Amino acid sequence: MAQYDVVVVGGGNAALCAAIEAAEAGARVIILESAPEHMRGGNSRHTRNFRCMHDGPLSVLTDSYGEEEYYDDLLRVTKGQTDPALARLAIRESEACLPWMEQHGVIFQGALSGTLSLDRTNAFFLGGGKALVNAYYACAEDLGIAIRYTAEVTHIDLSEGRFTAATLADGTRIEGRAVVLASGGFQADLDWLTRAWGPGAENFLIRGTPYNRGVVLRDVLDQGAQSVGDPTQCHCVAIDGRAPKFDGGIVTRLDCVPYALVVNRDGARFYDEGEDVWPKRYAIWGRLVAGQPDQIAYAITDQKAQGLFMPPVFTPVKADTLEGLAQVLGLPGTALADTVAAYNAACRAGTFTPGALDGLATEGLEPPKTNWARPLDTPPYYGYMLRPGVTFTYLGLKVSERARVQGALGPLPNVWAAGEILAGSILGQGYLAGFGMTIGTVFGRIAGQEAAAHAG
Ligand SMILES: Cc1cc2nc3c(=O)[nH]c(=O)nc-3n(C[C@H](O)[C@H](O)[C@H](O)COP(=O)(O)OP(=O)(O)OC[C@H]3O[C@@H](n4cnc5c(N)ncnc54)[C@H](O)[C@@H]3O)c2cc1C
Repeated sequence: MAQYDVVVVGGGNAALCAAIEAAEAGARVIILESAPEHMRGGNSRHTRNFRCMHDGPLSVLTDSYGEEEYYDDLLRVTKGQTDPALARLAIRESEACLPWMEQHGVIFQGALSGTLSLDRTNAFFLGGGKALVNAYYACAEDLGIAIRYTAEVTHIDLSEGRFTAATLADGTRIEGRAVVLASGGFQADLDWLTRAWGPGAENFLIRGTPYNRGVVLRDVLDQGAQSVGDPTQCHCVAIDGRAPKFDGGIVTRLDCVPYALVVNRDGARFYDEGEDVWPKRYAIWGRLVAGQPDQIAYAITDQKAQGLFMPPVFTPVKADTLEGLAQVLGLPGTALADTVAAYNAACRAGTFTPGALDGLATEGLEPPKTNWARPLDTPPYYGYMLRPGVTFTYLGLKVSERARVQGALGPLPNVWAAGEILAGSILGQGYLAGFGMTIGTVFGRIAGQEAAAHAG
């Protein structure tokens, strides 16, 4: 039976940051990654950027992005549902993380133009999250960290709250002086998702890894670890309904909504497509679609909208008439025609300005379309099927500012957590682009340092 100083559960960004910090502090470390080697890296391998505080230009980041502005951005998206101490810690520490990431092999590039306008706030990874994960694994190997793939942890042995060993699915026990839990959320367990959301969640698509099933989260909660966050809260965007059940990644996202009319299965509209600019609204559309019958919706555009948004990975359905489009999409033709006719009649003359709030709103329509409302009248017509795409769930472990997991009677003596598994402490609801990697990097590093110090 192997004995390590620090056992790290998970193989994504948070786990790797923790493992590297612990090994650099002199600890004997093992990474237990549920996925096989070619699938290693969890959701982190799908990422593109890291949101970072900075007082002046830093690496590829322009201008400055101070603590208060960053915190205000977080308060706005979470509607104040955050832990201020943990949130401010993540924000403040992000500045030192960027050079640390570069020192450990991550290469950044400036933001390309796109829908999110992030060149001041978010540093993009050259080669994406996959390159970041590969750089960290290479670093871990150089540091002599033991790495086991296809090593699903099914049980964390906590004897009176003290970690003794991790048990793998094949029964192997890996003993250690301290453990860092970095095994993500539970979104890939569709039964758990259905219990939390109710019927219909089986229709959700999971944008990332199939390995984040919350096995460790459930196991330690059952042993008295304190939880934070609401099981129904998650990051959920509208993605192409033809995306694979798991791991479709970033390319399946659809950005056409502001320039479209969005209808449900019955051909009826249900929300203002033009409520705000897309970077501030894309993250609500997954939940909106989830609330519709059969958890499905269809964005309809005409020729005028082509070229106004990032082209989707799957070719849209195209037809010369609305009736033809309805037929191919399986929508009730008359209902769709009535919806479009009512919308077209409510559109008013004005200046259409893509990308900025133009106030070109419908009149007398419920729900209204408050910006970019132009008649849908120029064939060919295009149809995009939308489904809720879950990025990650927010229910997680309660931790201290040193990332120590809280038990019923106080902090567990040798158990730390990092990444998505604690995201609920900081993200009560909503999401700020690039903040998942900030949470993982900041708390991964802290957890690794603390666990190594504990192990002595
Ligand atoms: C498509 C997509 C795009 C995204 N883009 C961004 C972005 O640009 N910027 C950003 O900040 N965030 C982004 N996110 C969110 C981001 O991926 C996460 O917040 C972040 O990667 C979480 O890191 P983590 O290490 O906690 O989890 P993960 O990277 O998911 O790692 C969890 C690891 O735990 C392993 N695991 C799970 N269960 C077990 C078990 N029982 N035993 C052993 N191992 C286990 C998994 O295999 C995996 O390796 C994106 C997510 C997705 C899906």
